[in-house]
Amino acid sequence: MIPLSRLQQLARRHGTPLFVIDHDALRKAYREFRRHLPRVQVYYAVKANSDPMIVRTLFEEGASFDVASMPEFQVVYQNIRHLPAKERQQWIWDKIIYANPTKPTDTLEELNKYKPLVTFDNREEIHKIRKHAPDAGLALRLKVPNTGAMVELSSKFGAAPGEAVDLILEADRAGLTVEGISFHVGSQTTNFDNYVQALNLTANIFQEARDRGYTKMNLLDIGGGFPARYDSTVRPFRELAKVINTEIDRLFPKDIQVLAEPGRFLAAPCGISVAEVTGKAVRDGKTCYYINDGVYHTYSGVIFDHCKYPVKAFKKGPTSICSVFGPTCDALDVVSMAENLPDLERGDLVYSVNIGAYSHASATYFNGFPPAKVVHENR
Ligand SMILES: *Cc1c(COP(=O)(O)O)cnc(C)c1O
Repeated sequence: MIPLSRLQQLARRHGTPLFVIDHDALRKAYREFRRHLPRVQVYYAVKANSDPMIVRTLFEEGASFDVASMPEFQVVYQNIRHLPAKERQQWIWDKIIYANPTKPTDTLEELNKYKPLVTFDNREEIHKIRKHAPDAGLALRLKVPNTGAMVELSSKFGAAPGEAVDLILEADRAGLTVEGISFHVGSQTTNFDNYVQALNLTANIFQEARDRGYTKMNLLDIGGGFPARYDSTVRPFRELAKVINTEIDRLFPKDIQVLAEPGRFLAAPCGISVAEVTGKAVRDGKTCYYINDGVYHTYSGVIFDHCKYPVKAFKKGPTSICSVFGPTCDALDVVSMAENLPDLERGDLVYSVNIGAYSHASATYFNGFPPAKVVHENR
């Protein structure tokens, strides 16, 4: 953790609102993931935070990448642009997955040049890929239970288990190669059983595909969902890793290629926001602080990500329950209705930690307030 005195110094130097990215915390999360899941290749899900320096640090650590749009693809591509064409192609084939199951045709045409791995989950997409990206490799996105995840994804994505092998065979008949299966158990999954169920469903589909004569699959993509430790109710990652390792060893052949697409787990711990109190009012006996960052900006996760970020003061002193509001004129712009804060004055700073994922990534310019300035520490 960056010392509080350093955060205050950065805020004085750069002004607020400030979004501080701690690259030591990013590397630490990446190495923790690798240490506990050594069989699994890490494809960072760029959507969690697409800051080019985050991508750069993970690139240097040896990560691979999950992208879902051409701009995200380009953020990763910047890092390999200088390589000779042949190495570049190999790198993309080995280290990028385009994991948006539905892709516009012009995107497919652009992607086809790089022959990446792409996901699909329906019949329409097979025929689009055949026509517009015939050189891509395929992974079938499977619908799996998302029980208890903070952000549910299974109602929008994934082929039902009962139709999975039909789709794999249809892609095969269309002249495409399905390399394996991917799933997503839902973001911030603290119910570890989701992974167990998803791995068992996937193993059954591998078996059914073999039984029906399709033997080309050797890739297992266990997606994202790995929970950030926002608080101590989230069990340690090593416990989840143990569950996953046991199931993979039990259900799949030794030589299967396993990859994962963590977004939040890597990005959340590396982001800290610092904002300033710009106004103060007492409403119905409760102190309300107005700060210069809110849910249209760094705290966008409060709305889009169903996430809560405790707001903390640098100042010490007796606390009371307060409201914290964002700067815009929208009544939705509420960071928190119940925050324990000491008595603050206009100009005092507040901060939130573990706010690196799905925060700055979905900040807007609403009401004329631009997103927070980004600064990099320990890069
Ligand atoms: C968003 C997303 C991820 C990352 O999910 P986290 O819960 O942040 O780990 C991974 N894969 C796909 C396909 C996604 O859409």
